[in-house]
Amino acid sequence: MKDFGRILIGTHNTGKAGELRALLSDHPFEILDLNSFPHLPSPEETGLTFQENAVIKATGYARGSGMYSMADDSGLEIYALEGAPGVHSARYGGPELDDAGRIALVLKRLENVPPEKRSARFVASIALASPDGDLRFVCEGECRGRIAECSRGAGGFGYDPIFIPEGYDETFGELPAQVKARISHRARAISIFIRYLLDFSGI
Ligand code: IMP
Repeated sequence: MKDFGRILIGTHNTGKAGELRALLSDHPFEILDLNSFPHLPSPEETGLTFQENAVIKATGYARGSGMYSMADDSGLEIYALEGAPGVHSARYGGPELDDAGRIALVLKRLENVPPEKRSARFVASIALASPDGDLRFVCEGECRGRIAECSRGAGGFGYDPIFIPEGYDETFGELPAQVKARISHRARAISIFIRYLLDFSGI
């Protein structure tokens, strides 16, 4: 049995860290974030898939911190844009753009695309590495939906104001956080992850 009691969440994205913390809050794990390790270098995300990047981050942060470390890599795939922004979601359009700029770029690139061709999905891959940097587990969750015609709502982060999850008319920016916490790609990946932690650590 391994002691997974303390786990470092390897992300600098406060929106993601908050969601991951909330999703793990009902479980007996002490969660630390990168604020506890301000000098840890961020591993370079050179992977071609969400899974590869999650593994690079989890193993890199574990080696640097000497702790069990989890990391997620996630993003938005839009079918009409051949899967873009994909693994480049965080920097789509270049590092000078902020979330609003990236949203504007997506909407512009989909300008003449009709509603039925605006299918998209969010994907989240989560990896766990042991303190010596060995990969222990990796899993993935997805949330299907479509891209709205314009930005709506101020909730969530990133592309939430233009993503309408399947079965809803509102965007993640408009829907209550509890809905996103139930159906998001990250929620789905994390529930698989938690099941693994609980089974494996015997808690
Ligand atoms: P990462 O830090 O490399 O995983 O970047 C993920 C990027 O994908 C974020 O910066 C957001 O732009 C986008 N993204 C991932 N998950 C979500 C989400 O739940 N809502 C909105 N945007 C997301």
